[in-house]
Amino acid sequence: MPGRILVVDDVATNRLILKAKLAAAYYDVLEADCGQAAFDVARAEQPDVILLDIKMPDMDGYQVCEMLKGCSETSHIPVVMVTASSAPKERIRGLSVGADDFLVKPINDLALFARVRNLLRVKMMFDELKLRDSTSRELGLSDFLENAEEIDSEPHTVMLAPAAKAQGETWKAQISKMSNVEVIGVCAEREALNMARFEQPDAIIVHQRLMEDGDSLRLISALRARPETRQAVMIYVVSDGAIETAAKALDLGTSDYVLEPFEPEELTIRLRTQLRRKRYSDQLRSNVRDGLKMAVIDPLTGLYNRRYATQHMQKIVERAQDSGNSFAVMMMDLDKFKTINDTEGHDAGDMVLKEFSHRIQENVRGVDLVARMGGEEFLVVMPDASDLVAKHVSERLRRAVECKPFVTTSGVELKITVSIGVAIGQPSDDDPNVLIKQADTALYAAKKNGRNLVSFHQAA
Ligand SMILES: [Mg+2]
Repeated sequence: MPGRILVVDDVATNRLILKAKLAAAYYDVLEADCGQAAFDVARAEQPDVILLDIKMPDMDGYQVCEMLKGCSETSHIPVVMVTASSAPKERIRGLSVGADDFLVKPINDLALFARVRNLLRVKMMFDELKLRDSTSRELGLSDFLENAEEIDSEPHTVMLAPAAKAQGETWKAQISKMSNVEVIGVCAEREALNMARFEQPDAIIVHQRLMEDGDSLRLISALRARPETRQAVMIYVVSDGAIETAAKALDLGTSDYVLEPFEPEELTIRLRTQLRRKRYSDQLRSNVRDGLKMAVIDPLTGLYNRRYATQHMQKIVERAQDSGNSFAVMMMDLDKFKTINDTEGHDAGDMVLKEFSHRIQENVRGVDLVARMGGEEFLVVMPDASDLVAKHVSERLRRAVECKPFVTTSGVELKITVSIGVAIGQPSDDDPNVLIKQADTALYAAKKNGRNLVSFHQAA
């Protein structure tokens, strides 16, 4: 996994040592010798991770970290503070200004690489989501999601898997002081797996030694592998003081770890940081999902739109070339729809369009493509359909509209009919647009011959 790492230290030898280690593992290394330079390089070069010395002459690491986290161009870059002391007070101070972790000098290689890998994974996931999010934004389709932050009124849920019930209660008391966070269970391994499946907690805190002789690393990898907890925050509490254990947990997918003994505050600050990050990535993920959906779905009827239909037809055309079967393309247009809008109002018009799309869907197969092409014009494409099948289905669709009046919300019964133009695609056809055009021409003929009719395109 390649990545660019910015090493910040006022002592040249320290930078050199770190640079050599990282370069040997094929990381791209940038350097800065003071706080201001670190900030400038970070902004200009956008590294993936920053290793930040705390003791520096111009400004200390805490100040630099605050600057980085306060600037929109650099706030997303993970920061690992490098310190000579492992005093809990320093750790809490660093975490409070937004640092992701600490490494104590002299730096342990295992701890360094496990943490760098973990942060790179997280950052790459964010970069990818942001890229996709911006693509759907460029399509102009997700502006309505701008106020999505308001959705976050639900409390975050946390599940605990401690070494003992008493410890679980201590953690719970501490976590319950956080606003909008709720502890939903204190569990042993098996219980934890069950609860995670049904409750889908936002975060899970796992102690290295579990109750009832459970295996904590096994629990972590099981939780990571499951769809319900794949995106959950996981914090691992290391009790044997071994950095190797923490490194293993990070590589198995924990989001963060904390070494015992720790100040209660350290756990809640780490938890809050991780929950914030999760909320942000959840939001990006749903923006992407909704953006994609908006790009292909007609909001009124829930049917596919023209953009999707033309693209999907290309696939149907290709499949016909492989299978050697013909397929049917039907263009449908409600007769005299404008009159309904004019005399009954647009709400009634919308109701008719919705009811019509409903009746279409009831009369075609699941594999058939149904789309609203615009206005009162709809398309049905049936793969693997002969012209006999097409005749049968198009006639059924026509009758489905004629046979039963459309009732408005105010109780007015509207008699509506539809005209349908059909073209049969052959395995030799390769342009969906030609077939749509043919169906359109047939539709025009149906209208001209008196409406409420099915008309087939006549091959030349
Ligand atoms: Mg220094």
